[in-house]
Amino acid sequence: MNLINCQECGKVFASAGQKVCPNCRKSEEEKYELVKDYLWDHPNSTVKTVSEATGVEEKLIIKFIKDNRLQSDGLAIDYSLKCKICDKEIAAGVYCESCRTKMINDLSSKPSQETEKDKNKGKKSEKMFISDRFKKKEK
Ligand SMILES: [Zn+2]
Ligand SMILES: [Zn+2]
Repeated sequence: MNLINCQECGKVFASAGQKVCPNCRKSEEEKYELVKDYLWDHPNSTVKTVSEATGVEEKLIIKFIKDNRLQSDGLAIDYSLKCKICDKEIAAGVYCESCRTKMINDLSSKPSQETEKDKNKGKKSEKMFISDRFKKKEK
């Protein structure tokens, strides 16, 4: 846990990796609910319309889209997201469908290396465990 300043309100709080304090995170959740409710009643709205109607910053709505949280809620995205790898326009997330498929294929094409690593890891922790026991005996 580190004490850091909240990115939203500047208050110091104990963070386990988060950049905003619990209070701001809570209000972000509330805003997300607002946006979701609005889109439920007004499907296919643009980010600008939603922002004006709900008072939620466009920045935050775009963040929700990037986090993949608003994808299926009928938002007409007038903000273009691009695949990090090939720059193709995508509806949500970080990578396009074909890059994602390629990444998964790349990962699964070298499973032998991974299992080798895992084996070594297991050996190491076993050794550590045994030497720990010896240490305890010595005392
Ligand atoms: Zn805050
Ligand atoms: Zn791509």
